[in-house]
Amino acid sequence: MNTLPPISAERLVDLLRTAPKAELHIHIEGSLEPELIFALSQRNGIAIPYASVDELRRAYAFSNLQSFLDIYYAGASVLITEQDFYDMAWAYLLKAQADHVIHTEIFFDPQTHTARGVAMKTVIDGLYRACQDAQAKLGVSASLILCFLRHLSEEDAFATLEDALPHRDQFIGVGLDSSELGHPPEKFARVFARCRELGLHLVAHAGEEGPPEYIWSALDVLKVERIDHGVQSTHDAALMKRLAAERIPLTVCPLSNQKLCVFPNLADHNLGRLLDAGLCATVNSDDPAYFGGYMNDNFLQTFAATGLTAQHAYTLMRNSFEASFLAPAAKRAMLDRVDAAFLA
Ligand SMILES: [Zn+2]
Repeated sequence: MNTLPPISAERLVDLLRTAPKAELHIHIEGSLEPELIFALSQRNGIAIPYASVDELRRAYAFSNLQSFLDIYYAGASVLITEQDFYDMAWAYLLKAQADHVIHTEIFFDPQTHTARGVAMKTVIDGLYRACQDAQAKLGVSASLILCFLRHLSEEDAFATLEDALPHRDQFIGVGLDSSELGHPPEKFARVFARCRELGLHLVAHAGEEGPPEYIWSALDVLKVERIDHGVQSTHDAALMKRLAAERIPLTVCPLSNQKLCVFPNLADHNLGRLLDAGLCATVNSDDPAYFGGYMNDNFLQTFAATGLTAQHAYTLMRNSFEASFLAPAAKRAMLDRVDAAFLA
C-alpha cells in the first residue's frame, strides 16, 4: 500500500463519498425502507401493525439486538412474490451505486421467508435477477450469500441448504446471523463442514455482542474466511494477533454498533484500534434502513466522530476489496481504481 500525499479535510470528505468501495455485510431484508414495506403491504394485501410510514419509522428505537430483530421480521412479512424480492434488492443496489459501492456481497435470510410459505426459488430468483441487472445497468458487481438463522436449529439449517442446492450457481457462500448470545458458532459445525465440502465460501457473525470465544470457534470449528462484526476481539490480545497475522477480515458496521448500543457513542468505536493493530477491518451498513444509514453515512459519520485519517480511509477502501470473494483479476482491477482515487 502506498503512502498518501497530503489530503485536506475537505478532500477527505469528498474521497469518503466518491472513492470506489465494496460492501460485504448487508442484510438485504435490512434494507427495506418503511415506504417500500407500506407499498408491498398494499400490493400484497398484507396487514402490518403500523398505521403509517411515520409510525413505522418511529418504532425503529432499539435498545439491543433482539428488539431490532423483532421489528425486522415483522417488516419482512410483506415479501411474497419474486418481484417483491427483486424490488427490495434493486432499491438497495441503487443506493449502493449512489455511494460508489462497485462490488457488494449481499446476505439474505431464506428461513425468514420459507417459514412463511414462500418458496426458496422465489426468494433466490428475485434477488439474483436484481444482481444481474445491477452489473448490466448500474455497473455494480453483486453476489449473494445465504445466511442461516442461528436462533433456529442446525437441522433447520441443513433443510434450508438442501432446499437451496438446486440454485447453487446463484449464491457464492453461506453465513450465520440473527441472535448471537446463547447460539455459539459450534452449534452449526456440521452444516458448515458440509458447505465447505460443497465449495461454498464461509462467513459468520461473531463477536458483535458475543464474546471473543465465539470468534475463535467461528475460525477453528466453522473454518470461516471472514468474521462479520468481530469488534469484541479487542478484549483478547492473542486473538488480535492472530486476526492480524492471518489477515482475517472483519466486516465492521459502525452505525449498527451505535444503534444497538455495542458502543455507547460512535466516538468510542474501536475501528481505528482494529486498523492500527493491522487487522483487515472494513466498513459496512449491516441493516441500513433500520440503523440510520447506507455506506457513505457509515463512513462520513464514523470519520467525523472518531477523527480517523485519510490513510485510514485508504486502508478501509483497499481492505474492502482484499476481503471480498472476487476473482483475483477483478480484485486487482478494483484495487487499482482505489489507488487511482487516492493517489490522484
Ligand atoms: Zn449483520
